[in-house]
Amino acid sequence: MRNGTEATQSTDVRTRFQLSMKSKPPEPENSDPHVSLGASQEVNWEDFRDHIATADKDGGRRWLYPRKPSGRLHDYRKWFAWLLLVAMFSGPFIRIRGNPLLMMNIIERKFSILGQIFWPEDTVIFAVSMLVFFTCILIFTTAFGRLWCGWACPQTVMMEMVFRKIEYWIEGDGPVAKARDAGPWTVDKILRKWAKHSLFLALSFLVGNTLLSYIIGSDALLHLIRDDPRNHVTGLSFMVGFSLIFYGIFSRFREQACTFICPYGRFQSALLDENTIVVAYDHQRGEGRAPWKKEQTAAARQSEGFGDCVNCRQCVAVCPTGIDIRNGIQMECVHCTACIDACDTIMDKIGRPRGLVRYASLNGIQKGEPIRITPRMIGYSVLLTALGCLLAFLVFTRADVETLLLRAPGGLFQKLPDDRFSNLYTVKVVNKTSHDIPVEFRLENVEGRIRVMGGEGWTIPKEKLGERSILVELESEHMHGRHTPLEIGVYSLGKKIETVKSVFVGPGREQH
Ligand code: SF4
Ligand code: SF4
Repeated sequence: MRNGTEATQSTDVRTRFQLSMKSKPPEPENSDPHVSLGASQEVNWEDFRDHIATADKDGGRRWLYPRKPSGRLHDYRKWFAWLLLVAMFSGPFIRIRGNPLLMMNIIERKFSILGQIFWPEDTVIFAVSMLVFFTCILIFTTAFGRLWCGWACPQTVMMEMVFRKIEYWIEGDGPVAKARDAGPWTVDKILRKWAKHSLFLALSFLVGNTLLSYIIGSDALLHLIRDDPRNHVTGLSFMVGFSLIFYGIFSRFREQACTFICPYGRFQSALLDENTIVVAYDHQRGEGRAPWKKEQTAAARQSEGFGDCVNCRQCVAVCPTGIDIRNGIQMECVHCTACIDACDTIMDKIGRPRGLVRYASLNGIQKGEPIRITPRMIGYSVLLTALGCLLAFLVFTRADVETLLLRAPGGLFQKLPDDRFSNLYTVKVVNKTSHDIPVEFRLENVEGRIRVMGGEGWTIPKEKLGERSILVELESEHMHGRHTPLEIGVYSLGKKIETVKSVFVGPGREQH
């Protein structure tokens, strides 16, 4: 027979599965587990919803020592992580048509995505890209929960597949490291800590430099490394700053980056529904919990009111965020699948089918429903398709050269000999291509002359913005009063690439 505690554990699991982030903690029943936080608020330490797993009763950090994960899904994740790591570290050096695969140069406001250069002038494209990106997140999260966090997020990949592996290698499995940390400082302990943190620092330097090369480009980074450091104090400060930030994150801050900093986990309660695929504990099959007795058959166990969960807590021991998946989906869960592998190993040992903890939806567990496409997902998909089409249109119709013509501040016009007048303009030309473009200007709608200051034969270097002054001269007989509309054609190698419009200011007919 189930005892009272187990019966309580098995109740309300559905609610916990759905609403663990939103539920109000139950009313306190006795004073022991509660800690007063002031006049009106108490923390019930018995209730997982009332505190985060990594905080102790004094509000301090509870350092986690997760056990080494292993198993089928961990192996898949390991291989996938290696692929991602190769892509991440080689990304800044991969070029398409001479441009970086990905570069977000916020300093020069120049962006390269899949070798296509984008400028601040492409704000519409950028805005639509952001909308597409966020809609993708909505659809993906609604359908697959936090699959991204567990499999592809750089924070999880670096933490669990690189830094944590080094820690296991040097410090041993979680319980071993915990016992050593609790013991006195010995030569062995000092050497292990020194080796671990030296490697962490070196790796953080590598990660920091990789991030920097995604911002300023690999060529600029290599120049920064090779050149006299005194010429690059700002760049070097960023290099050191990034390295120290990553060292801090991966050596100390760890799972808190996902819990406290990343907003994605907090979207969950709004995005997930009962059809979302998440890492879930099958409470129908698992409850009530009780240790497995040797020679006990599953049928006998069921007849006594027990489920498949043997309460071994291996799923908790491997969790890098310190939570118990049996409490339902929680904000801290990064869907790393370690608990699935751990539980599968236990199920193998007791001869029960795998999947007590598995990828599943609430409806899948409650009603045995297959994965299905919900109206919400269809709505998001329609929106995504429309935005995708708009983005494709904007990208494919984007001009390679963009010209901005502005009247020079100050003077209106100048009277020249031979009854001619001149206006001064500033022209800015952005060359978005990866080759130099020579440009010239021609008056399209009125007879006159254009003189480019600084000499004719102006070439805009690739991926650069050129700026010059131009002087437009018109004879009074071709002017239409005080304001003459101007159309100026921008030509390259004899081919018109753009037309820009402005106004030529004259003295008015009566003053000619
Ligand atoms: S690993 Fe499986 S059997 Fe063990 S406590 Fe977790 S859910 Fe229960
Ligand atoms: S509950 Fe499971 S999937 Fe979630 S973080 Fe912990 S081990 Fe990973």
